[in-house]
Amino acid sequence: MARLLPGLVEQFAAIVGADGVRQAPEDLRAHVTDWRLRYTGPTDAVLLPRSTEDVARVVRLCAEHRIAIVPQGGNTGQSGGSVPLADQGPNVIVNLTRMNRIRALDRDNGTISVDAGVVLQTVQAAAAECGRFFPLTLGAEGSCQIGGNLSTNAGGTNVLRYGNARDQAIGLEVVLPDGQVWDGMRKLRKDNTGYDLKSLFIGAEGTLGIITGAVLKLYACPVERAVAWAAVSSLAAAVQTLTLLRDSFESRLSAFEYISRAQLQLVRQHVPGNADPLPGDYEGYLLVELSDSVATGALDEMLQGALASAIERGLLENAVVAASHAHAAAFWKVRHSVSEANRAHGMSLNHDVAVPTSLVPAFVERATAAVQSRFAQAEIITVSHLGDGNVHFLTIFPRPFWEQLESPSGYAADVRRVVFDVATEFDGTFSAEHGVGQGLTAELERYKPAVGLRLMHQVKGLLDPLGIMNPGKVLRPSRAGDER
Ligand SMILES: Cc1cc2nc3c(=O)[nH]c(=O)nc-3n(C[C@H](O)[C@H](O)[C@H](O)COP(=O)(O)OP(=O)(O)OC[C@H]3O[C@@H](n4cnc5c(N)ncnc54)[C@H](O)[C@@H]3O)c2cc1C
Repeated sequence: MARLLPGLVEQFAAIVGADGVRQAPEDLRAHVTDWRLRYTGPTDAVLLPRSTEDVARVVRLCAEHRIAIVPQGGNTGQSGGSVPLADQGPNVIVNLTRMNRIRALDRDNGTISVDAGVVLQTVQAAAAECGRFFPLTLGAEGSCQIGGNLSTNAGGTNVLRYGNARDQAIGLEVVLPDGQVWDGMRKLRKDNTGYDLKSLFIGAEGTLGIITGAVLKLYACPVERAVAWAAVSSLAAAVQTLTLLRDSFESRLSAFEYISRAQLQLVRQHVPGNADPLPGDYEGYLLVELSDSVATGALDEMLQGALASAIERGLLENAVVAASHAHAAAFWKVRHSVSEANRAHGMSLNHDVAVPTSLVPAFVERATAAVQSRFAQAEIITVSHLGDGNVHFLTIFPRPFWEQLESPSGYAADVRRVVFDVATEFDGTFSAEHGVGQGLTAELERYKPAVGLRLMHQVKGLLDPLGIMNPGKVLRPSRAGDER
């Protein structure tokens, strides 16, 4: 390969140590292909810094030699943002895995300060150890990193109560594309001193700089939980059940997930150890969780009562409240197995859209009709963080049909266009929690209002004038006039 200038690798090694440079093909494999196996691109080296200073020096060297940088955390992202483009020129992947220190835990301030490479589950455990709670939770939590969570503004299953990753960060440290370090590791809940710079980097998918540290909010531990699995005959009934539970439980309602029957079947087919929590022939299911940081001993009963009332009103067909932690964990296992099942299934196109929650049923109905009228082979499957209006709208195609397509990527783009056009009609977004990455840059140009798109190009041009920070992700290179 050897696309870097002679001697440059040695200079990188002088910064991160010889054991912090990976170049052997077998060592690069896990870094150059994304989790869904949809995107792959060549890199010249994976660099593993140990400190913010290492990152800053690496970035300065890259800027000097115009080497593109692909920031990478756990490489579990869903839009190809964490791997190089297929036609990427000289580049290095800067992987934060070795920046895994918990820097400080301030119990009285209710914050934890961490390196960006700390794995999400480690943050959860560190918080729990001192009797506090870090609420971000998602299927990849055993390997995704805080830096990646913030860079994708990850959502997950607790957004309803606690918000998404952006809501958890009150401080940030970022290495800018010229190698300067922006130290925003403040532990303040109030700071109205001008623009909220940290928000620029959250959700930027590594295109504006490398996040190296974060100050995160901690909460009271939920000491009591009630988890239920319920059968529902329609999405409209599911939304009404959500309203009913919101009215009854307010902020105790921490999760409200919808899983269609077809999705449950895929999970059971592809991921061992998943049972059907409510055997029977139902259209879809709700996974509901209430939690409270005050032990009342009454949560199970209260949830049972609310679900019984939903059954009486004809909103639910059946429901079961988990009788033990293991029982609740079995319900959650089904939900957390969804991504793995869909990856194993193969030819599914996942559209991660959001519309106002009240419009989810009408959106799904219209999008299903629109897709099936144009793509007769498509089977539609939905799974939804319904409490947030976030629908994973999957279109699945028979493998033999897919394999004979002349241009599968063109076909996928046609399907996307139909789904996203309908989401837009419903005042929705084409990317709710998975970001834009390299897969949806054309969609950003199509659906983002012109003024917003121009502002994004201006910000990118200002912070990264050389265009070395994760090029080709989120924004395609500026066209003449974008910066005005
Ligand atoms: C099984 C599974 C379930 C998932 N469930 C959910 C879910 O429910 N909700 C949800 O929102 N997402 C979900 N995801 C996707 C989720 O976005 C990622 O898992 C996670 O947030 C990304 O973290 P990561 O460390 O793997 O980042 P990566 O995949 O390595 O990177 C993601 C993006 O962030 C950038 N990046 C990474 N680290 C940094 C950094 N330190 N500084 C700057 N840029 C950086 C990369 O360049 C890339 O653009 C799921 C993924 C899997 C595999």
